[in-house]
Amino acid sequence: MIIANDSERENLIEGGKRLAAVLEALRAKVAPGVTTEELDDLAEAMIRDDGDEPCFLGYTPDGAGRAYPATLCVSINDEVVHGIPNETVKTLKEGDIVGLDLGLRHGGIVVDAAITVPVGKVNDETKKLLYATEAALAAGIAAASPGNHVGDIGYAIQQEIEAAGFSVIKELGGHGVGDRVHEEPFIPNYGRPGRGELLSEGMVLALEPISSAGKAAVILAPDGYTYRTKDGSRSAHFEHTILLESSGARIITA
Ligand code: MG
Repeated sequence: MIIANDSERENLIEGGKRLAAVLEALRAKVAPGVTTEELDDLAEAMIRDDGDEPCFLGYTPDGAGRAYPATLCVSINDEVVHGIPNETVKTLKEGDIVGLDLGLRHGGIVVDAAITVPVGKVNDETKKLLYATEAALAAGIAAASPGNHVGDIGYAIQQEIEAAGFSVIKELGGHGVGDRVHEEPFIPNYGRPGRGELLSEGMVLALEPISSAGKAAVILAPDGYTYRTKDGSRSAHFEHTILLESSGARIITA
């Protein structure tokens, strides 16, 4: 969406604050022995207690055969995105990494964010993967100024992930957000500077680098949602909703 007035802007900012608080509570809950369903239940309860609406629950993305059945996406290790926490319930183990992706609607405005969290102690390669993917999100945000292009964001993200020796997953990427969960423009996590749609003030975007520690190929599980890396490598995912202001991108879900 393009923010048109102060009331939309205020709802966007407040929704982002609330979403960040839910993600921080989930991060704090992550530990060996916790189940994916417990995380989903916590996310849904916190959002509803605030009077807001989980916006992945019941949402059918373009091309999906059925509505998504949970509030939260929980993707463990080689699961890339959109792991379903409440159908096949899994228990977190020491050394795992877990991606938590969540969207909510506050005052009519949708915000979307994700973090990948280590479960207890993880190995050095995994730490490096998490660090590089979060750094790629920061680089993408820094490139998201009005006057730049979608390709500048993708280029910045790709450079950061590949410089660390990892791969960018090309099938998945960022998107416009605000009125709905997924809007134009699609924002690939790779690109060429100066190419793609022009970025303008007031745009609300979700940037989300998604990386693989091995090869970039992914496969979709029979549940129709869970993506995994084809070679079994671990994958990381970090996402923020941002608002493009004249001075640059403002992070809404920090
Ligand atoms: Mg998203």
